[in-house]
Amino acid sequence: QNAETPFYYTDKKAAEAIIKPREKFSHKGTFGHALLIAGSYGKMGAAVLSGKACLRSGVGLLTMHLPECGYEIIQISIPEAMAITDSDPKHNTALPELDSYSAIGIGPGIGQDSKTAAMLKSLLEIVKAPLAIDADALNLLSQDQTLYEKLPENTVLTPHPKEFQRLAGDSENEYKRLEIARDFAKKHKVIICLKGANTAVILPSGEVHFNSTGNPGMATGGTGDVLTGIVTALLAQKYEPADAAVLAVYQHGLAGDRAAERKGQSALIASDVVDCLGW
Ligand code: AMP
Ligand code: MG
Repeated sequence: QNAETPFYYTDKKAAEAIIKPREKFSHKGTFGHALLIAGSYGKMGAAVLSGKACLRSGVGLLTMHLPECGYEIIQISIPEAMAITDSDPKHNTALPELDSYSAIGIGPGIGQDSKTAAMLKSLLEIVKAPLAIDADALNLLSQDQTLYEKLPENTVLTPHPKEFQRLAGDSENEYKRLEIARDFAKKHKVIICLKGANTAVILPSGEVHFNSTGNPGMATGGTGDVLTGIVTALLAQKYEPADAAVLAVYQHGLAGDRAAERKGQSALIASDVVDCLGW
């Protein structure tokens, strides 16, 4: 923390100060019910990774909304999750009832079908629970920029550099990108996790929290989907969205560092990050 600038550094102490202890007399209802809208034909792995990460991040209950083709995949690979299937065989196209959920995450593996775009649009119209948007849901968002003004306040967006470029345009260098992201977060009152080495979590106030954990072993398919699950789990547990984003990014990187210690960076895969989660 620096009094003169909006720049902060998420080290162990800063991250641990956010963590809420689990009370002795708590029950699964205490920890919220997350809904993850994820997966499409050929990309069900992203749904599995985000779902497992969500459950490993303290959520009370998890329901996953999936294309029909994903039903058995999820039921077999994540016995702890409940599954609702879309009528479409390959894509998420229609919203379920949303009242039961304390947070919603959308994006991992959903693809860019036009019916999925329509679903995202109606989600933004009616959602009341805290929301995390990632991956192809970000790409769909950037295809209709009139939707930006519909983003609920404090929605958490988790773009990698390419997704951010589609959302907000080109930037000549990393500093410029950070400035564009700060303007975007302020203008649309959203939280942006600008992913990469030292992921920057940018708040609607313009504050930037640089993460201290993570390693290049995490530059491999599926690690971003793991982050979506963690963010959604923390939102479901009623962490303030800014705290949820900062803590999720830290714990994700920490799990990646533990995984790299066990496996080495080259052998690290996203499932290892899930396996190494825990606080
Ligand atoms: P995605 O591209 O959506 O799968 O997200 C990749 C994830 O891996 C993000 O959380 C990044 O922060 C993380 N990551 C990618 N490359 C690096 C790196 N060189 N150092 C640390 N973390 C990284
Ligand atoms: Mg991704």
